[in-house]
Amino acid sequence: MEQKELQKLVEQISLKYFSLPFLHQATFNPRLKTTGGRYLTKSHHLEFNRKSYEQYGIEELVQIIKHELCHYHLHLQGKGYKHKDREFKQCLEQTGGSRYSKPLVKSNERPYRYRLICQKCGQTYLRKYKIKLNRYRCGKCKGPLMMKKID
Ligand SMILES: [Zn+2]
Ligand SMILES: [Zn+2]
Repeated sequence: MEQKELQKLVEQISLKYFSLPFLHQATFNPRLKTTGGRYLTKSHHLEFNRKSYEQYGIEELVQIIKHELCHYHLHLQGKGYKHKDREFKQCLEQTGGSRYSKPLVKSNERPYRYRLICQKCGQTYLRKYKIKLNRYRCGKCKGPLMMKKID
């Protein structure tokens, strides 16, 4: 998803669920690591984590957008816009925004790059590092393993 599409999506959700226009900027911020999005109280801009979208899909991103828009609209209206505020909680309920964004796989964490497949029973195992195949056997049936690289 591109920056322009994100902006459009936030504007659409704002009109549809809040009946109010979103008049600031929504961007993907690659520096966000563990949160799905954030609202900047000074500039009123919204920032989102592209990984939330990549890992959990559009439904998750839409829920995060609703969450951040609750902060946004309540703050601009001078209402309780913080997580503990009643108005904020009500806003989440009314719009279906996410309470917490799902935890994201840390980008410095090494991804699984190899798949081991048992040639006898078909059981698969994920590994981050290459292993010496002749030293290992299937944990389920002791069958020989085959290694495939995950792209
Ligand atoms: Zn929040
Ligand atoms: Zn096996």
